[in-house]
Amino acid sequence: MLLEIQDIRVHYGKIEALKGLSLEVAEGEIVSLIGANGAGKSTTLKTISGLRPLSSGRVLFDGRDISKMPGHKRVVLGIGQSPEGRGIFPGMTVEENLHMGAYARKGDVTKELDEVYGLFPRLAERKKQAGGTMSGGEQQMLAIGRALMTKPKVLLLDEPSMGLAPMLIQQIFQIIEEINRRGTTVLVVEQNAQQALQLAHRAYVLETGRIVKSAPASELLADPQVRAAYLGGD
Ligand code: ATP
Repeated sequence: MLLEIQDIRVHYGKIEALKGLSLEVAEGEIVSLIGANGAGKSTTLKTISGLRPLSSGRVLFDGRDISKMPGHKRVVLGIGQSPEGRGIFPGMTVEENLHMGAYARKGDVTKELDEVYGLFPRLAERKKQAGGTMSGGEQQMLAIGRALMTKPKVLLLDEPSMGLAPMLIQQIFQIIEEINRRGTTVLVVEQNAQQALQLAHRAYVLETGRIVKSAPASELLADPQVRAAYLGGD
């Protein structure tokens, strides 16, 4: 397994946001985490990237216990995150934002930059534009592009479809598939369960800090309980 989360508990003060959660991601997979608001999806990603400390349990990456490793070292190991709300630098240009993504890499990043521009031609067209003046969809592309600049082994995506028009959602999901085809493992958190399950190989359903289901995504798409709860379905 590339990534193993073992029985983790995470607190915000007295609130227990994750209550003994376990999940696994194999190399090459797209795994999706779905669940209602407040279920703990973002917290799970933040715990993997080192932004939130664990109260108990372990996070293993490539078989190595990284539970106590600071976030910037996890980036160097190959954990890349595109955070919810994007977090781009509004006053910097698109290209400067991408360079910020590569801060952990030493030396020439031209190749990485070219790859990101290849995936997102819109970013190439807007290299010199201030990040903050890009549209919502463009900022989402920029945030994903910036995460790719570290050449992650696993890319953690928090709500990549958030705030996007349906056509752009399709486009972002196609790009995520392409990123995966080129060799990057993906763990994606989504409220848009339908799209997430169509994209992923496997998925986990999260309810109030616990995994309640895990299965191949196609099985969850056909699961009556999942359909009723998350797919607005019949
Ligand atoms: P959403 O889909 O709405 O983003 P989520 O599944 O990503 O939700 P989390 O953001 O992980 O959920 O939140 C899990 C729980 O932890 C929620 O009850 C939330 O209120 C709580 N929580 C998250 N961040 C904080 C914080 N900084 N301080 C206090 N509680 C928090």
